[in-house]
Amino acid sequence: MTRVAVVGAGVMGCAAAWALAKRGADVTVHEQFELDNTRGSSHGRSRIFRVAYPDPAWVRLAQEARDGWHELERESGEELLGLYGLVEIVSDPALTSAAALDACGIAYSLLDGSETRSLGANLPEGWTALFSADAGIVHADRARHAFLDTARVRVETGSRVESVDDLDADVVVVTAGAWVGRLVGDVPVRVTRESVAYFRREGSPMPSVVEVDPATGGHALYALHDPVHGLKAGAHHAGAEADPDTQAEADPAIVERIAAWVRERFPGADPEPVETDSCLYTSTSDESFVCERRGRVVVGSACSGHGFKFAPAVGRQLAALALAE
Ligand SMILES: Cc1cc2nc3c(=O)[nH]c(=O)nc-3n(C[C@H](O)[C@H](O)[C@H](O)COP(=O)(O)OP(=O)(O)OC[C@H]3O[C@@H](n4cnc5c(N)ncnc54)[C@H](O)[C@@H]3O)c2cc1C
Repeated sequence: MTRVAVVGAGVMGCAAAWALAKRGADVTVHEQFELDNTRGSSHGRSRIFRVAYPDPAWVRLAQEARDGWHELERESGEELLGLYGLVEIVSDPALTSAAALDACGIAYSLLDGSETRSLGANLPEGWTALFSADAGIVHADRARHAFLDTARVRVETGSRVESVDDLDADVVVVTAGAWVGRLVGDVPVRVTRESVAYFRREGSPMPSVVEVDPATGGHALYALHDPVHGLKAGAHHAGAEADPDTQAEADPAIVERIAAWVRERFPGADPEPVETDSCLYTSTSDESFVCERRGRVVVGSACSGHGFKFAPAVGRQLAALALAE
């Protein structure tokens, strides 16, 4: 039986432990803080789940992940996905995920202003909205626990690993989020502290919304259902570089920008934030993930601000790398 140490119990470490346990490995997870710590990237109640991406490779990975989430739902008896749909809002129709969804044979529809409003969002004049049903949210907190509860592996909290050489294991999987560089050196990532805000919104859950930045083609602002307040919103890649060992609140200027967008875009939400939070992004230059084996160490850095939805698929990739002959 291969003895595997997993460093970090964010969603990627939990997913790797789940996939490793399924393949018969003897797994110990080391987490420097508590399981529900708010210091890394995986805390909070919800994350956007979507298969709509402008690149077919990401669409296929999201489909694989969706199947994994459903598998985990069956195993844990927990509802982990809330499939309320996704609306992409873009200034130029070429910026939607339509071509990639067509290439993968996935249905979607284009909405006019009144159809978009009926889903809770204002569409600026002349802009395009694409609706994808295969989307919504992942219940983030439930998901992390479901992976570990199902895997039934050893979890050591308050256990900060100073060096992978200290671990008595055949293979070490490093899913240390923003701390990855401290343990494995040269990983081409940048750590930033991002801000989110929560808004009061009554009624049935809204679809997730992503608004594409016409300048970069990447996401600018996003919103999703929050099970407590109704709406969570954030600005993608808006935060400054950060040291993961320091703690900080949400950036007030970014929160103001988010609130201004909520006021303009979501008529059913109270635009006064009721709660704010900060969270770390660990990003590569092209928003891809680092999943690779280096000797007895497997590096799993899968964030770039959009990794959560892919966790079951990433966990499987890391397990395959760890248990490869
Ligand atoms: C504001 C925000 C919004 C996001 N929105 C979305 C979204 O809508 N959809 C989506 O798909 N993704 C989203 N993401 C991205 C997603 O949350 C991340 O990709 C994911 O959480 C990364 O998880 P991780 O396990 O790699 O890192 P982390 O969650 O940071 O976990 C790493 C863990 O390793 C531990 N650790 C580090 N070093 C050590 C050590 N030496 N010893 C022991 N333990 C250690 C840390 O304490 C930490 O708990 C968002 C991220 C943020 C910050």
